[in-house]
Amino acid sequence: MTARVLVVDDVIQNVKLLEAKLTSEYFDVLTALNGEDALEIIARERPDIVLLDVMMPGMDGFEVCRRIRANEKSAHIPVIMVTALDQSKDRVAGLEAGADDFLTKPIRDLPLFARVRSLVRLKVLMDELRMREATGEDFGINMDNGINNQISLEGARVLLIEDYTRVAERISRYMEGLAVIDIDGGSLDTVSSPDLENYDLFILSLGLDKIDGLRLCSQLRSSEHTRRIPILVLVDEDHPDQLIKSMELGATDYITRPIDKNELLARARSQIRQKRYADRLRHNMQKSIEMAMTDAVTGLYNRHFLSTHLDNLMSVENNNHKTVFLLMLDIDKFKRVNDSYGHAAGDEVLVEFARRISNNIRNIDLAARYGGEEFVVVMPESNFEHAYYFAERLRMAIADQPFSITASDQPITVTVSIGLALSGDKNSSSAALLAAADTALYQAKENGRNQVCCCEKSPAE
Ligand code: GH3
Ligand code: MG
Ligand code: MG
Repeated sequence: MTARVLVVDDVIQNVKLLEAKLTSEYFDVLTALNGEDALEIIARERPDIVLLDVMMPGMDGFEVCRRIRANEKSAHIPVIMVTALDQSKDRVAGLEAGADDFLTKPIRDLPLFARVRSLVRLKVLMDELRMREATGEDFGINMDNGINNQISLEGARVLLIEDYTRVAERISRYMEGLAVIDIDGGSLDTVSSPDLENYDLFILSLGLDKIDGLRLCSQLRSSEHTRRIPILVLVDEDHPDQLIKSMELGATDYITRPIDKNELLARARSQIRQKRYADRLRHNMQKSIEMAMTDAVTGLYNRHFLSTHLDNLMSVENNNHKTVFLLMLDIDKFKRVNDSYGHAAGDEVLVEFARRISNNIRNIDLAARYGGEEFVVVMPESNFEHAYYFAERLRMAIADQPFSITASDQPITVTVSIGLALSGDKNSSSAALLAAADTALYQAKENGRNQVCCCEKSPAE
């Protein structure tokens, strides 16, 4: 994976050294010697990640980081702060300033590449989700867009997988106030349990006695219920091979023993925040998909979805020689409602009309808004008597109870004409079935409206 890395440091030797290391791993490297230049390059070049020295004359690293975060265009670029050794306060302050991670000088290769790769991988995912969200917005879908809003950490749940009871209890104490911690002593034999889905973070020891932590890491990554949950691994300094392997397997971050409380808290916080942010993007995506399928006024499925669904249904049903029943409904003299009470009143009627349809159909039936004041109900698994009876009941549910609208003190009477058609030799395609229902509907209108008509068959037959 190639990525563009911006290295910011006031000491030119440091810049050169990092540039050489990163270039040797096939990263594209940009460089800046002070905060102002860095911000300018970020605005112009949009790097994939920034390595930022804390101690710089003029604008220090914290300030640069805050400005990167404050600007909507750069707020999503991952930042790794580079601090002097043993400046634990600095590191935590950096994470608080919005940095995603930190490295201590002198920078060793292993943590450098591990951190950079992990953050670039995350950014690729986030960029993709954000792009889809933008497509949704182009589509006219208004997302509850909280990208730059604070992500709440409230109610966070962490699963700690560590079999040394004393260590587990200590970590648990450290995390008090941030998250509810459950401890699993490494007996976790069913990583496929759906219960795991509710965690925001796994903290996984790689030094477990009974089971192989790396294997667990890989299983957590591949199980459907846990693949999106970040994994923070606990490693010993003297096991760099384990660390590399775990990052390859998809661990999202690591912390070395002995565990520093502030570092643990900062890392856990940052992982949980990123997870919740990704969840929110995904949730918005889901919503946008739903919205692309449904009609905004009535909440019923839209015509596009109906057509696709009907095609699928009929291909399966045809194979099974089962009949699909379809109702085409059109509100009678709807134009009059608009003319007398205004368009908003018309919309109110449409909403209530759709609600009454929804209340009367079975779970397996599907209701859609087909056009302005035309609706379709698709009924699989039915018979003619039932379908006709159901259409009649629907007609009465509309006609017998006047509609309340804001524009009038008196509820108004609304009626509907319904055309019923069934699939079969004559109506073997969805288009033919819809056309047949439309013909029946026309007949119902001709016959005086407020009635159900079926061209092919009358209920008496
Ligand atoms: P008919 O009994 O023959 O169906 O008469 P009608 O007045 O219902 O039929 P017509 O097709 O002449 O008029 C349909 C009206 O529906 C015209 C249009 O303004 C109105 N309409 C279509 N979509 C909407 C909508 O989303 N909101 C509102 N308020 N009115 C709509
Ligand atoms: Mg009408
Ligand atoms: Mg009409």
